[in-house]
Amino acid sequence: MSLDDIQARIRKAEQDAGRPEGSVRLVAVSKKQPDGRVASVLEQGHRIFGENQVQEAATKWPGFRDRFGEIELHLVGPLQTNKARQALGLFQVIHSLDRPKLARTLARLSQEEGQCPDLFIQVNTGEEPQKAGVLPAEADDFIVDCRGMDLPVMGLMCIPPVDEEPSLHFALLAKIAERNGLEGLSMGMSSDFEKAIALGATHVRVGSAIFGERAY
Ligand SMILES: *Cc1c(COP(=O)(O)O)cnc(C)c1O
Repeated sequence: MSLDDIQARIRKAEQDAGRPEGSVRLVAVSKKQPDGRVASVLEQGHRIFGENQVQEAATKWPGFRDRFGEIELHLVGPLQTNKARQALGLFQVIHSLDRPKLARTLARLSQEEGQCPDLFIQVNTGEEPQKAGVLPAEADDFIVDCRGMDLPVMGLMCIPPVDEEPSLHFALLAKIAERNGLEGLSMGMSSDFEKAIALGATHVRVGSAIFGERAY
């Protein structure tokens, strides 16, 4: 697949869902990809990328920003509080606000720095013990708490369990967002982004379908 193919599939899925063209943003997840592949997607004009580790992003993106100018960088992986300040300097959007302690840290740091990235609250829709995110039953209260701290919460994010139908999880996330008046929905990856768009995704996070398999 190429960037163009993925963009075309996104436009088609928007159309099929009766949604306006351009209502879905493509976050190209470049974690663990060779620099050459990332540079090639930058050369095609794409400017929205996702990483899942602060450290990896800090090594990779300052150089690309020097070469290619302004890039909107999204953190899609877990954030440790001791890396939060560094993350504030690197990312325009954080998709993984997943616990009260991180919310308090981001609130304090953004006061100090006078700015805060746009935030998505991660919901553990499958209630998987090994997965980050607030439980669906705790989401409403957590959203209220985050708003009370003046955090710029734009929407919700989920990563469905690998062995379940993702649409059920996308629908649950959309329902929680709707009843809390949140517009943003970060959901859908390489294997299921069209289903996510059908259920209202505003941000799809696509890695291997654009760049190829990751090198570990
Ligand atoms: C790696 C990753 C993606 C992209 O996954 P693909 O299957 O390669 O599209 C999306 N979201 C998160 C949180 C990730 O860690």
